[in-house]
Formats: sequence, C-alpha cells, structure tokens
Amino acid sequence: MKSFRCTISSIENYNKDTRKVLLDLKNEENFKFFAGQYIQILTPHKKFPFSIANAPNYSSHIELHVRPTPGSEDSEIIESIINSSRDLQIEGPLGDCYMEEKPDKPLILIAASTGITQMKSIIEFLEPQGFTKSTYLYWGVVSVEDLYLEKLCKAWDNLNSNFHYIPVVSEPSTSKQWEGRTGLVGKAVLKDFEDLSDIEVYVSGSAGMVYATLDAFLEKGMPKTNMHSDIFSLVPREKKR
Ligand SMILES: Cc1cc2nc3c(=O)[nH]c(=O)nc-3n(C[C@H](O)[C@H](O)[C@H](O)COP(=O)(O)OP(=O)(O)OC[C@H]3O[C@@H](n4cnc5c(N)ncnc54)[C@H](O)[C@@H]3O)c2cc1C
Repeated sequence: MKSFRCTISSIENYNKDTRKVLLDLKNEENFKFFAGQYIQILTPHKKFPFSIANAPNYSSHIELHVRPTPGSEDSEIIESIINSSRDLQIEGPLGDCYMEEKPDKPLILIAASTGITQMKSIIEFLEPQGFTKSTYLYWGVVSVEDLYLEKLCKAWDNLNSNFHYIPVVSEPSTSKQWEGRTGLVGKAVLKDFEDLSDIEVYVSGSAGMVYATLDAFLEKGMPKTNMHSDIFSLVPREKKR
C-alpha cells in the first residue's frame, strides 16, 4: 500500500448531492489496484475511505463518487477538503473485496447507495472481457433521484445479453413516479432466486445491510465463502453496531 499526493483534475455533479471527483495519477504511474478496491483520503486526524469507481484498465486516474451524509461531521470535513483543495493526500489500494479474474459462476452484485461505485469498477473490469456468466446488478436506493448512474446501468444491460440491471427503490412515495421494484435490495434478490448454492455475491453497503443479506442468503443455500464484502474485515460481526 502506498501513500501519495494526487491532483483533483475535475469535479462534476451527478445529481443534487453526489459528485464525481477525478484524481490525476500522472505522477503515480505505478499505482496498481484490483477492481473493487478503495483508497483513503488522509487528513491530519482521520482517514476517509472511498471506493475506486473505475476499473484498473483505465488507471491514469482514480474516479471517486462522493455523497455527503446529512448531519455528519466527517462528511462536512470531506466536502470542505474537496471544495478547497487542489491536491489530496491518499493511501491505497485497500480492501479484500475485489475481483482479480472473471468469475466461474453466475454473479450477483448488490449495491446500496454509493456502494454502486465498487460495483462499477468490477463491471468495467468484466465488460471488456464479455460477461460469459450471467451477471445481475441490484442497486438499492432510497428515492428514484438517487439512481445517478441509471443511464450507464441501462446501457450495460442493453449492450450485454448476460447482464441484468435491477434498480430497487425503498421509499418510492418520496420520489417522482416509479414503476420498478420497491423495498429492500437484499429482499428483492431473494424474491428472484430460489437457490443460491452456485452463485458468487459481492455486497457493498452498511454493516447492518450486509450481515442481514448474508444471513438470508445462507438460508437459501449460499456457501459463506461465496459472499464478498469489505464489511467482513472492516466491521467484524462481533463488533457490528
Ligand atoms: C470501504 C468504504 C468505501 C466507501 N466508499 C464511499 C464512496 O465511494 N462514496 C461515498 O460517498 N462514501 C463512501 N464511503 C463512506 C465515506 O467514507 C463516509 O461517508 C465518510 O467517511 C463520512 O462518514 P459518515 O459517518 O458521514 O458516513 P458513513 O455512515 O461512514 O457512510 C455512509 C455512506 O457510505 C456509503 N458506503 C458505505 N460503504 C461503502 C462502499 N464500500 N462503497 C461506497 N459507498 C459506501 C453508504 O452507502 C452511505 O451512503 C465508504 C466507506 C467505506 C467503509
């Protein structure tokens, strides 16, 4: 793992709150990572983890998607650093929930909110090789407006016969008209799959969401080792809040 300075080369708004932040890696040509890993933004007192949204195949930059958490002091610090800095000190790559080679089983990717960034990296790693196994992306958000990568996800779905995109909105009443899936994203998967014994699963979200998904999937026959999430090492079950 390395620690180094990089330059913010652009900031773009996706929607009312989520921003795409590109970090230029010109001076760090040797930064190597796997699809699904994350970096940490270093500040004098704390480190802030952010998933790398691009695949290693396009690694002249690091793409981050940053969404502020209302009422969070940490989030305010991050927003102010991004708004006022030209350079960032970061370290990485980190995380053991990544993809090194094509899976040999059907794949379910489950993202909650900005957890989509980790899945985007994995999908952009797999897409150029072709999805030889069925790949399902379930993206759970609170309201329709949170689906800030909807066009891209639909394009993956339209262009690849083995790729299936399933957005799931938990509070559709707060959104503009929504005729798609509703409820909790993990439950949506359970409705669609009777048997999970021969499937690989990647999950990105809060500890509560990840462990609830794990328990439910184990009951449907998924071997424990087939589920991957950074939460398992970041928030071991005995420490789960
Ligand atoms: C491994 C990891 C990766 C993260 N990546 C991002 C990111 O790409 N964009 C972002 O805005 N925030 C990300 N976060 C959260 C971010 O670090 C915090 O939002 C920030 O530290 C402010 O803290 P908080 O207490 O407000 O939010 P927290 O309560 O710590 O985090 C809340 C938000 O982080 C999101 N999040 C949690 N895990 C991940 C993940 N693996 N990938 C993407 N999002 C995740 C949640 O969906 C939620 O929206 C990540 C956190 C972790 C642990």
